[in-house]
Amino acid sequence: MGHVPVEDALTGLPNRHSFLGSLRRQLQIANDQRGRLALLVVDIDRFALINAGQGYAFGDSVLREVAVRLRALLRPQDIAARIGDNRFALILPRVMNPGHVELAAEKLQRLMEPPFDINGQRLRVVLSCGVALSPEHATQHDHLFRLAERALSQGRQAGQRMRFAADADSDWELSEHWDIEVELAGALQRDELSMFYQPKLRADGLVVCGAEALMRWSLPGRGFIPPDRFIPVAERGGQIKSLTLWALNVALRQANAWRHSAGRIGVAVNVPSEMVAQDDLPELIESSLKLWGHESVQLTVEITERSLLADPQRSFRVLNELREMGVRIAIDDFGTGYSCLAYFKDIPADELKIDRSFVRNLPQDSASADITALIIDLAHRFGMTVVAEGVEDQPALDMLRRLGCDQVQGFLFARPMDNPTFHDWLDARSPA
Ligand code: C2E
Ligand code: CA
Ligand code: CA
Repeated sequence: MGHVPVEDALTGLPNRHSFLGSLRRQLQIANDQRGRLALLVVDIDRFALINAGQGYAFGDSVLREVAVRLRALLRPQDIAARIGDNRFALILPRVMNPGHVELAAEKLQRLMEPPFDINGQRLRVVLSCGVALSPEHATQHDHLFRLAERALSQGRQAGQRMRFAADADSDWELSEHWDIEVELAGALQRDELSMFYQPKLRADGLVVCGAEALMRWSLPGRGFIPPDRFIPVAERGGQIKSLTLWALNVALRQANAWRHSAGRIGVAVNVPSEMVAQDDLPELIESSLKLWGHESVQLTVEITERSLLADPQRSFRVLNELREMGVRIAIDDFGTGYSCLAYFKDIPADELKIDRSFVRNLPQDSASADITALIIDLAHRFGMTVVAEGVEDQPALDMLRRLGCDQVQGFLFARPMDNPTFHDWLDARSPA
């Protein structure tokens, strides 16, 4: 057996692997003793901005300092770990009540308040935190972890620094009595999936350039399950490939009919990271294009920065093959990952999508405005088109225009619509 590291080399905290083991053990103890345990998942806000602006070594120093301050919060029985690039977790066993957890989370924020001093540079660090409790929210470790991560991402979307997981009762689809993975396996056969479309428009003049295809799962009597919940399950359960191919075929087929009303138009499909480094992706896309492709429909593939991390050379090769076939490549959610600027110039991409967490805070939040300006500038230097997603109001649009953003997408223009509704929307906009 090889030796599995338990420690994160940078911060000296337990790593993700060791953390998952501890969580399982601590939950076992809590369940046996009928005690309460809290799990906090913590992200450093705008870490990409720190890395992009100040460089890698600086980013590493920030991570180390955050780890030092986290340690100051711990009681002897508590456990802190670094579980991702800019993500930490805290296990607090034997908490008396949810109020105590709230106090701990507040203390955590306070500990980060004094500005960091790194090589003589001062910097403020803000954390976002998702909390889940056992037994209130879940008693299984993977389930509890998922709930805390989801609380974090939902809190962020809502602009909250801290958020508790929803109660198990009101959250049936995540309750342990319902197996989303099993249900999902039959969803395609039962015809429960469909594609929705959200327009992408030119920032000046608001001419429609195309649409992003977004998957929806509707369950009889239970309404829509958002993709944020079932896509990760499909990724873990191995169904993501068949879902992606299905999405690709449906989107290309349906987009074929749009061109009658809109002239040349684009359609963008999300491709999960695990497929990006797989050698058969170009072949799969080529056969979809053979079936449904049309010269007046431009296919874009949206991938995340994360897709490139595991094996950049291989991913670059795959992406270049796609481009040779005439497929555009968009980097999605840009700014949220641990972007490596060193190889940015080599990424074979045509488009950069600024993550909605930055766009949402425009124009009032100056750090979001800074990173948006930075991304637009960076992308243009390398000849890429910049798309801002999550544009919800006019002031944000005005600022994006001032900054030279090329395209926009968001509720200000349209929500994702089913295919017939998107048709009508296109018809209503096209000049008579
Ligand atoms: P994404 O690729 O970043 O997609 C954009 C998301 O932002 C969509 O959420 C869209 O509805 C939402 N959005 C658009 N405009 C606004 C706005 O103005 N305000 C706010 N608050 N949100 C806005 P949706 O459809 O729930 O999808 C969530 C995520 O699920 C997507 O994020 C994508 O990562 C994943 N996803 C969706 N469809 C697919 C798919 O077919 N395949 C794969 N692999 N992933 C998918
Ligand atoms: Ca996308
Ligand atoms: Ca996105």
